[in-house]
Amino acid sequence: MNNDIKHLSWTLALPDAAATEALGARIAAGLQSGDAVALAGDLGTGKTTLARALLRALGVTGAVPSPTFTLVQHYAARLPVSHYDLYRIEDPAELDELGLDEALASGAVLIEWPEKAADRLPDDALRIELSTAAGDARQAHIEGPARWAAQASERSHNDG
Ligand code: ADP
Ligand code: MG
Repeated sequence: MNNDIKHLSWTLALPDAAATEALGARIAAGLQSGDAVALAGDLGTGKTTLARALLRALGVTGAVPSPTFTLVQHYAARLPVSHYDLYRIEDPAELDELGLDEALASGAVLIEWPEKAADRLPDDALRIELSTAAGDARQAHIEGPARWAAQASERSHNDG
């Protein structure tokens, strides 16, 4: 269960918000029940922008508010997805009340401020670290299990 499965290491330039949204859609295409996607990075780097695009790509049509105050929002899409923002939690034990284990057992989770979860995230989480670059540009550094390499290597294309 604790095999070293961290094989994808990918750095990607995100010149504008649309690029961040496209990354979210790519990740949505590979998302499976039990997956955790950690979205790290300072305020305003695009964590919620990426999460919102991912949820839209999974088929969520209603509002996708930031979970800044509610701490978690649950969605029923292609699979159940729980979107967490842990900025305001003070102790990782709060994740019990917030139903992290149940969310992972029944679907996928997206987690902003994953550092607040300490060691509560699964070892095989996909870890995305967003950072600012010049102007509106951002950069993503992505680490995770080898199966996510499909999302990195697929050429960007538009099915619509
Ligand atoms: P976070 O959740 O990390 O605090 P948000 O996604 O809420 O960040 O906000 C990011 C803001 O930056 C949004 O207003 C978005 O439109 C803007 N933005 C500008 N350029 C980018 C980019 N390349 N990627 C993501 N967001 C961007
Ligand atoms: Mg946010």
